[in-house]
Amino acid sequence: MSDSDSAPLYLGIDVGGTDVKLGLVDGACQIVATERTATSLLKTPQNVFRHAMEFASGRPIAGVGLAVPGVLDSHAFELREVVNLDGWLGVPLRDQLAQISGLPSMVVNDANAAAYAEHASRLLGVQSLALITLGTGVGCGMVVVGNPHGGDHGCAGELGHIAIDFSADALPCTCGSRGHLETYAGAAGVIARMVQLSGEEAEGLTPRRIANRAESGDVLCQKVISDTAAYVGRAIGMLGQVADPAVVLLGGAMTFGGMETETGRRFLADVQNSVKQTTLVQVGGNMKIEFATLGNQAGMIGAAMVARDRS
Ligand SMILES: [Zn+2]
Repeated sequence: MSDSDSAPLYLGIDVGGTDVKLGLVDGACQIVATERTATSLLKTPQNVFRHAMEFASGRPIAGVGLAVPGVLDSHAFELREVVNLDGWLGVPLRDQLAQISGLPSMVVNDANAAAYAEHASRLLGVQSLALITLGTGVGCGMVVVGNPHGGDHGCAGELGHIAIDFSADALPCTCGSRGHLETYAGAAGVIARMVQLSGEEAEGLTPRRIANRAESGDVLCQKVISDTAAYVGRAIGMLGQVADPAVVLLGGAMTFGGMETETGRRFLADVQNSVKQTTLVQVGGNMKIEFATLGNQAGMIGAAMVARDRS
């Protein structure tokens, strides 16, 4: 057996409402093997953990990490709130995972796992980082002083529900409050803004199509995207003034083409400008804002790296 065959690996389990992603990750954050199974086929935590151990069987596993959506009690390692995962609420996940795997085990919120993966894979040498996920909703995972930061109620980094509009006609949010970022910068908010500015029907509009049209020179689409950047930037500015992360990454399905397109690069520049306009120069001037790179494997990689560092 060569050294690389016997070097320790870490098993990452990323559970979502649709699928369970498994990954064997080495100590340098590189994926060795992955697997994906529909959550509906496995259902319960016990089945997921047993399936994960079968996947890893015969490999030198040094620790197991689990990433879960929802509100995670980071003392009891139990979910207090979660949608689309029947049978997972109130289960002592860390204990059950440790019992089934017989290995050091750790549980982390999936947004924080993704942030931790970006932190670990970039060998950043920075202490604090935030990963903001733009899509149907607006999510945020945080690494603070080198640790995934869940908060005392499992709700740290709920950036989607930061108020960015305090005017009398601020839009109502799905949570019941008003003026929250997600209402303005979630996919539905972006489409609603396009409808409002252009008078077009919402049907057939998606953030991707708006980005494509912006790239072809459609001025209204460009304006909708730059407005979105301004909203996102305001929320990042607030985050910056509170937590002062060295790096803020933008990921998720709605990055308007990312670094590959002029539209995506302009979106990033507009976010950066919005942050600078609303923060102290020491915060906004020093904060690095970039697109995330690990995509939808980040949660699984982060779970494995949390097992490496925290279990
Ligand atoms: Zn809200």
